[in-house]
Amino acid sequence: MNLPEMFGENVFNDSVQKETLPKEVYKALRETIEAGKQLDVSIAGAVAAAMKDWAVSKGATHYTHWFQPLTGLTAEKHDGFIEPDGDKVIMRLTGKSLIVGEPDASSFPSGGSRATYMARGYTAWDPTSPAFVKEGTLYIPTIFVSYTGETLDKKAPLLRSMNAIDKQAKRILKLFGIECRKVATTVGPEQEYFLIPEEEYERRKDLKLTGRTLFGAPASRGQELEDHYFGVIKPKIGEFMRDLDKELWSYGILSKTKHNEVAPAQHEMAPVFSTTNVAVDTNMLTMEIMKKVAKRHGLVCLLHEKPFRGINGSGKHNNWSMSTDTGLNLLDPGPNPETNSLFKLVLAAVIKAVDDYQGVLRASVASAGNDHRLGANEAPPAIISVYLGDQLGALVDSIVKGESYKASKKQEGSIGVPESPIFPKDATDRNRTSPFAFTGNKFEFRMLGSQANVADANICLNTIVADAFDKLATELESKKDLAKAVDEVVARELKAHYRIIFNEDGYGPEWEPEAIKRGLLNNKNTADAVPVFYEDKNVEVFVKQGVYTKAEAIARADIRLENYVKIINIEALTMIEMAKRDIIPSVSDFVAELCQNVASKKAVCENIPVNAEKGLIEKLAALNDKSSELVAKLEGDLAKINKEDFRPASQKMAHVIIPDMEELRAAVDEMETLTSADYWPYPTYYDLLYGVK
Ligand code: ADP
Ligand code: MG
Repeated sequence: MNLPEMFGENVFNDSVQKETLPKEVYKALRETIEAGKQLDVSIAGAVAAAMKDWAVSKGATHYTHWFQPLTGLTAEKHDGFIEPDGDKVIMRLTGKSLIVGEPDASSFPSGGSRATYMARGYTAWDPTSPAFVKEGTLYIPTIFVSYTGETLDKKAPLLRSMNAIDKQAKRILKLFGIECRKVATTVGPEQEYFLIPEEEYERRKDLKLTGRTLFGAPASRGQELEDHYFGVIKPKIGEFMRDLDKELWSYGILSKTKHNEVAPAQHEMAPVFSTTNVAVDTNMLTMEIMKKVAKRHGLVCLLHEKPFRGINGSGKHNNWSMSTDTGLNLLDPGPNPETNSLFKLVLAAVIKAVDDYQGVLRASVASAGNDHRLGANEAPPAIISVYLGDQLGALVDSIVKGESYKASKKQEGSIGVPESPIFPKDATDRNRTSPFAFTGNKFEFRMLGSQANVADANICLNTIVADAFDKLATELESKKDLAKAVDEVVARELKAHYRIIFNEDGYGPEWEPEAIKRGLLNNKNTADAVPVFYEDKNVEVFVKQGVYTKAEAIARADIRLENYVKIINIEALTMIEMAKRDIIPSVSDFVAELCQNVASKKAVCENIPVNAEKGLIEKLAALNDKSSELVAKLEGDLAKINKEDFRPASQKMAHVIIPDMEELRAAVDEMETLTSADYWPYPTYYDLLYGVK
């Protein structure tokens, strides 16, 4: 494999564009991509023709507009390039077909923002994310809007939020005499996932229907030895990873780091960061490719946030920053952050945004799956806080307290072995427990779920930071002594939002009560987190920054709650089915066999000891009865909920149904530990987690 040669071979990227497009067309297209200039539609015909020729040379026969509706997944509808030409056919892609598509929008969720009778939806080309060829089809990244212009997807608001940052960040830069064409947000999403044997997966209804195990007693060995993290990669997993990299690279995805994660069977892939909308598209593609490549290796890739109880779940760390097209990273503190006023102002703005809008930021990562992580032991708590590290923490402290700041000398690390080189120490240590941590020249937002479309969190982050920039720029633009005014604004904002900064252990027991004392929000589940979105102040920030209309913002929250209700409903129904049809009958059979054993033993010899059997019979029979009662309770409670009325239904799901499910699971998991392996109807945690050779 010649990596530099095959890298991006399936992508209509900059170099292919340069090679295949007429000079003027290429220039106009790059202006749109690099400087955010409105697309000149007259070039569409030429781009479409070149794209089609290139795609056909890669074996493509079809094209599709590729979009991200509010299902959280991607959507595609393939059309052939084929057009009749007398009794022959020609291959054609017109400029119009490149620019707009018209899929039937009626079957996609819209959160009530579009009545089904007005089912017209349009997809429109996003030229800033490159098209690619996959399995004989040319994929054209698009946004998805309704006939009336409302956005029906995650991409359009994402692009709007990036525009908002671009506009507002330029105002901030201008205060410092810095001009540039574009400020873009950048994202590097680290993707965690599990790999399990396909044959075991196939026998688990819960994994197949819900992505996670709804029952399952822990294996005798979990992650307590802490030996899986960065451990030696098993050959079969290694083959998968090599194959995955090769495929990701062919799509121009900069897969860079791969390693075993904390939990058994858990792994991670981190790409090199890119512009946010490209990062969103490539992450969606990455998840799809992970699943596909796993199948080829007899494995199943689980992207659910919590496939297994009792061991770590999976998240997606969203490394986020902002850079100018001239290469200036706005979150780079430089060698002397204490005198870097631009950096201090940007930092203050981010901290202000995160504090003012902690509720929406939390809501942007809320999902049924992620509820199992946030607040649990391995993930950041459900409370948003900002970690700055020792150096920046000390700087912020000095500003807030009005004390002078003494920069600690850059330390050189040495490990005390003369042969080993001296290494410069990083400015910040790693704090793995913070939900929003400064890591050198970017923030790492760690609350995202592993299967989430990262657009949601980034739409939110971009919008609230743009708004903070907007407010601060408006105030500062009229000031005569700018340097003094910036210092004052930075000190004021850091003081006002100091409560959101937390540089200690976010998993420690002291943090939750402390956070509550500070007045920080602690919404532990989706049903409680999402309604924050409906508050006027939160709707207004999206409206003001031109990211969502009021209707669009409310529709997003509605869909989240509706989706939550549907997921919990499916999980509850799956549990009921598994318990009623497989587990309870299996345990009953096992108990019957035990009873027979007792009877036949007694028939041979009245005095033969049967305590083992009798003890088991009593325990299992009682637990099986209890399980059956708990199934009935769950069924009854579920039937009482009107799922269509999803706002109250979401509350019922969180506070009635989930506790019911917990109770049922506890009884069933206990039965699993007592039932003969020959009778248990499903593969165990041991089979699932340690089944890959
Ligand atoms: P970790 O220690 O959390 O594994 P790394 O230092 O390996 O983190 O980097 C994590 C991610 O951060 C990578 O995807 C990297 O490309 C990304 N990253 C680095 N710089 C930036 C930036 N300026 N903007 C966004 N992401 C970035
Ligand atoms: Mg990380």
